[in-house]
Amino acid sequence: MAVAMADLRAALGDRVRLNEPLARYTSARLGGPAEYLAIASSAPALAALVRTARSLGFEPTLLGGGSNVLVSDAGVRGLVILNRARAVVVRDQADPPSIWAESGANLGALARQCAAGGLAGLEWAATVPGTVGGAVFGNAGAHGGDLAGNLVLAEILQREGQVERWALADLEYGYRTSRLKRLKAGGQPLIVLAAELKLGRGEPAALQARVDEFVNHRKRTQPPGASLGSMFKNPPGDFAGRLIEAAGLKGARAGQAQISSQHANFFVNQGQARAADVFALIHRAHAAVLDRFGVDLELEIELVGDWTGMC
Ligand SMILES: Cc1cc2nc3c(=O)[nH]c(=O)nc-3n(C[C@H](O)[C@H](O)[C@H](O)COP(=O)(O)OP(=O)(O)OC[C@H]3O[C@@H](n4cnc5c(N)ncnc54)[C@H](O)[C@@H]3O)c2cc1C
Repeated sequence: MAVAMADLRAALGDRVRLNEPLARYTSARLGGPAEYLAIASSAPALAALVRTARSLGFEPTLLGGGSNVLVSDAGVRGLVILNRARAVVVRDQADPPSIWAESGANLGALARQCAAGGLAGLEWAATVPGTVGGAVFGNAGAHGGDLAGNLVLAEILQREGQVERWALADLEYGYRTSRLKRLKAGGQPLIVLAAELKLGRGEPAALQARVDEFVNHRKRTQPPGASLGSMFKNPPGDFAGRLIEAAGLKGARAGQAQISSQHANFFVNQGQARAADVFALIHRAHAAVLDRFGVDLELEIELVGDWTGMC
């Protein structure tokens, strides 16, 4: 293993940073270091990094906006790739119009850009943190829309190294889930390099008004500060936040992590929280809701890194 690590370091040269703290790359602002960190600034560069790591026997950990992951305090062994591949092509003369975006493009910024340019249909995404790739992976959604409603195709780097174009049906989307997520859970992660999203046309002022409405709604209903968004998926017919609140845990703390007193499905880093603090709250909320209501809440976020001795 040590030899392969040295090979990886040699292959990546000065593109790699050692023991890079990941807290600064996650929305919760916590988590330990990446043993190796490389930044991909284009889709071809992302594909090349992944192919190099895999050819040396490593499965890299891919981070987009880091807004749906809890990175352990121990950090991540091996190579973490930070996806900053952000090229965007707007096909506004096509019928219907569409955008093609590299997977590291910021989804919210893209949605606001579309609204300002009179391209309709992505307003729901203006308030969703993270990248296009993260949204394609997890079928991000808000305000009645989701990625599945926009996706035309995704360009996917296969494990053998070739790139395939997957149509909507190939992604087998469900609520905050996809075939990509299931493949990853089964130990076969694939990489989204780019996606094409379909749009419509609209008056920029009307589209901007919708964006503003969603931004204001979020400000009213969700806490500010460093968090991971919704911690648990909503169970069928109910809300994880309602159940956690009804179990008496709104405002509960562990270290500097707190279950928000505004919305109990948001766990907020109040400054110097450790991932272990958030993890303790996850366990507490899960156990309390199971005990009181018999509901087995499923995590919406993903645990990343070394959780030895914690799970
Ligand atoms: C304040 C806040 C509000 C939020 N609100 C919402 C909301 O309303 N709706 C919603 O759906 N989500 C919401 N989220 C969660 C988050 O925004 C989404 O899950 C988002 O799509 C994650 O994208 P990301 O780039 O940050 O992914 P990351 O957190 O970086 O990664 C998440 C997973 O996706 C994988 N991944 C990322 N990029 C790729 C790629 N290119 N190819 C393959 N796999 C990839 C990663 O490996 C990891 O497994 C919220 C989060 C926060 C912090």
